[in-house]
Amino acid sequence: MKNIPDFIYVRVAKNCFRCGAEFQARDAERICPACRKPRAARKTASAELSFREKQIVGLIQHAMLNKEIAFELHLSEGTVKEYLNHIFRKLGVKNRTELAIWAFNRSKAA
Ligand SMILES: [Zn+2]
Repeated sequence: MKNIPDFIYVRVAKNCFRCGAEFQARDAERICPACRKPRAARKTASAELSFREKQIVGLIQHAMLNKEIAFELHLSEGTVKEYLNHIFRKLGVKNRTELAIWAFNRSKAA
């Protein structure tokens, strides 16, 4: 019997293209099941920042303080904080450092 069982071709361990986790892939699958699941939180919200939010992200990248951002955009410091919390939630980042990293990676990808 020289027949090779079909399943050898069907499933192969791969590293997820998106998160890097190893998973059993079928055919040309490049993304693990977890990443394939549509998640409300991750629905490429990145592209859906408002104009104002993008402005603020841009200033965060320049390591500006809330006070400075407020001055720059003619907003109150409290409003800037609100915007930031909104942006953090949208992008799933914890703080301004993570936000800056996110923005950096995004600009590299573009
Ligand atoms: Zn994955």
